[in-house]
Parts: sequence; C-alpha cells; structure tokens
Amino acid sequence: MPEELEEKILVMLQDSKEGSVLQCELWKVLNSGSREVSRSLVKMEKRNLIKRESVQEGGRKTYRITLLRKAPKIDLADVSWCSCLTCHDLSRCGRGQPISPDNCPKLSISIRNEFLKHSKDEEIKRLSSARKDADAK
Ligand code: SF4
Repeated sequence: MPEELEEKILVMLQDSKEGSVLQCELWKVLNSGSREVSRSLVKMEKRNLIKRESVQEGGRKTYRITLLRKAPKIDLADVSWCSCLTCHDLSRCGRGQPISPDNCPKLSISIRNEFLKHSKDEEIKRLSSARKDADAK
C-alpha cells in the first residue's frame, strides 16, 4: 500500500541522524521496488513533507531525501493522559472504521480533561507571576 510505504519512509527519515537519507539506500532498506519508492517520494515532495536534491553517489545519480519538518520526540509520559493507551478497542480502532477516533467519546473526554488541566496550570502560573510582580513593587 502506498500509504504504508510513505509511513515507513517518514519513520526512517525521522529516525535518521540528520533527517535525510539517500534514495538509493531507502528502497534497499525498505525492501521495496525502486519505482514504488520513487513514486511515493514524488507524492511526498508535492505535499511538502520532504525535499529531494540530486546528488552523485559512487559515480551514480541519486537523490538526497530530507524531511522538511522533523517531529519532536514524544515521551510516552507526555501522552499518558490519552485514553487510547489503555483502550480495549485499540486494535479495532481506526479512521473510517466503525470504532474511530473521529467520533470517540472516550478520546474527546480525555482531550477535554487534559486541555482543562493545562489551562488550569497556565492560570496558576499566570497568577503566581502576577503575585511576584506585585510583591516586588
Ligand atoms: S480513539 Fe477511542 S476507541 Fe479508539 S483507541 Fe482511542 S479511546 Fe479507544
């Protein structure tokens, strides 16, 4: 599936040291056809996910593929509030499926609770900072 291949390419770029790899290495590591990988890369470039630069490697022309926006590393503890982590329906859940994050009340509630908690923390910080400023005067 092209989407699966694109996902694998993104993961590989994300895990690479500088967010870039050579196209000739990609299709070997991904164990996919070079034409298939090339097609996916063209689509990804059109969507501004990557950039492709022509380079010479071992006397042959290839492309250096660079991820345009490297996603920040997320620690599992940062998303421990998310209901999906402990959900019994996780293996059956997916977009376009009967059980979907698009209409999941459990996920909506956990996002809402996290948002409220974050808002409360921000309000406490703001009040604490205002109090310090007032005390300093
Ligand atoms: S979106 Fe809802 S149903 Fe799907 S895994 Fe998360 S909590 Fe479970």
